[in-house]
Amino acid sequence: MYYVSTRDRLGKTTVAGAIAYGLAPDGGLYTPEAIPSLAGNALNTLRDMTYQQRSVYLMNMYLDGFSASELSGFSAKAYGGGRFDDPRVAPVRKVDDSTYTLELWHGPTCAFKDMALQMLPHLLTASLRKVGENKTVCILVATSGDTGKGALEGFRDVPGTRILVFYPKDGVSAIQELQMNTQEGGNVGVCSVVGNFDDAQTGVKRIFSDTAFKEELAGRGYFLSSANSINWGRVLPQIVYYVSAYCDMMKEGAIENGDRLNVCVPTGNFGDILAAWYAKQMGVPLGRLICASNSNNVLADFIQTGVYDRNRPFYNTISPSMDILISSNLERLLHAYTHGDAAQVKGWMDELSGTGRYQVSPQVKKLLDQDFAAAWCDDAAAKAAIGKMWREKNYLIDPHTAVAVNALEQYRAQTGDDAPALVVSTASPFKFCPAVMEALGVAQSAHGLDSIRQLSELTGLDAPAPLAQLAGKAVRFDKTTEKEAMIDAVREMLR
Ligand SMILES: *Cc1c(COP(=O)(O)O)cnc(C)c1O
Repeated sequence: MYYVSTRDRLGKTTVAGAIAYGLAPDGGLYTPEAIPSLAGNALNTLRDMTYQQRSVYLMNMYLDGFSASELSGFSAKAYGGGRFDDPRVAPVRKVDDSTYTLELWHGPTCAFKDMALQMLPHLLTASLRKVGENKTVCILVATSGDTGKGALEGFRDVPGTRILVFYPKDGVSAIQELQMNTQEGGNVGVCSVVGNFDDAQTGVKRIFSDTAFKEELAGRGYFLSSANSINWGRVLPQIVYYVSAYCDMMKEGAIENGDRLNVCVPTGNFGDILAAWYAKQMGVPLGRLICASNSNNVLADFIQTGVYDRNRPFYNTISPSMDILISSNLERLLHAYTHGDAAQVKGWMDELSGTGRYQVSPQVKKLLDQDFAAAWCDDAAAKAAIGKMWREKNYLIDPHTAVAVNALEQYRAQTGDDAPALVVSTASPFKFCPAVMEALGVAQSAHGLDSIRQLSELTGLDAPAPLAQLAGKAVRFDKTTEKEAMIDAVREMLR
C-alpha cells in the first residue's frame, strides 16, 4: 500500500517514507491510498486479545515492510513494562446505561498524547532505517505544555534518538514546567525561551529551515526531525484504541458486534477524531462522530455549515489543548471526501492560508453530515459538566473531557439519538487542578504541586503517580535562552 500527499496525486511513498519525512515536499499530509478493512470475524478475534496484541494486528494492516514480530517489540516497549498504570492501557468505563468513557490518560504524562507518542519513536527510528537514513534522529519540539512532555517521555532513552524541547518561559503552568525540567533520560534536553509560545515555535521553525545548520548537524551525525501531530506515525496508533474500545464493550456485554456506537471527541487539531473516522472506515460499527469544541469553535462551525473560517477571536480556555484555530489533520478527511482530488484540497488550503477561510463543495458537506455532528461549549458549561459528573456519578473528569460530555448532552437533546455513546477522555483531572477545583466549588485553590494535594484531599482520589511523585524529583534543566540564540542552545544540548 502506498501513501499519497493530500496535495499531489503523484507524490507517492511507502509508509516508511511517510513516517520518516512527516510532511510531503508539497506541504501536504501523507495519507494511505486505500483504507484496509477488517474482515467479517476480525472484531471477534480482536475481542480476545490484549491491547498490545490489538495494536500489532491493526497497525500491521497499514505498515507494509514491517514484520509482526518487529511491531510486537514496539508495542511491548510502548504499552508494556508498567508504563501505563492500567494493564488495559486504554480502559473503557461505564458512566450510565448508554454512556461510557474511553480513558486515554493512563500513560506516563497523564494525557492522551501518550497513546501515540509512546509508539512514534519506534515507528520513526525503524522507518528511518528502512529508507536508508542511518544518522541519529534529533527531534526538536516547541511546546505549550503537553506535547513536549509527551515527546520527552516517548523518546527518552530510545536508541538512535535525541529529543530537545523548547517551551515559553512564561507560557506553561508550574506543574508542566516541573514535569519537563525533571525529565529523566540520557538523550533528552529541555530549554525555556524568553517569550511566548509563538516565539518558541517561530524559533524552532527557523532552525528547521536553516540549511547551513542542518548541514552542520549532518556532519556531526544528526538528522533533524519533528514529532508533529500531522505525522502518520501519530495518527496510526490512535486508530487502535477506537477498535479496542469497541471490542472491550462487546466483551463486557455493553454492545453486541454490529451495534452502532456513537463517539464524542474533545477536538483540537482533529487528529484524535480523525482516527475514529479511520476506524469506522475499516468496518468498526461506529455511528455518529461528534466533534466537541470549546469556545475556539471553528471546527464545530465548519461541521455545521461547511465553511471553515479562522477569522475570529482566539480564546485561552480551561481546555488549552483544544485552543486551536487551524486544525491540520482535517486536510486528510477532505482528501478522502474528494476521492483524492489533490487540486481541490490544495485550493482550499491555499485559501485558508491566504484569506483564512474556505467553503467545501455540497458533495463534501453531504459526506460530512453522514459521519459527523458537532457541538461546542464555553468554560462555564465545561465547569458545570465537571461538577455535575462528580456530584451525580462520583466520577472526576478534566476540562477537555467535560467539553465532550457537554457536547454529547447537546447532541442527544437535539437529535433524540440515544444510541450507546463513548466519550473520549483525554486527560487526568489532576493535570488541571485549579479549573477542576473551581468546578467543584472551591473558591481559593492552591498553586502548583500543592493544588494536586488539595484536589486529592478534596475528592479522596489518588493523583496519578507521575504527578504525585513530581515533588520528589530532582530538577535537571534550568537553562533559558533568548529566542535569537536557540541554535546555540541546540549546539550546547547536543554537545
Ligand atoms: C491534544 C489534546 C486534545 C485534542 O486532540 P486533537 O487530536 O488535537 O484533536 C484534547 N485533549 C487533550 C487533553 C489533548 O492533549
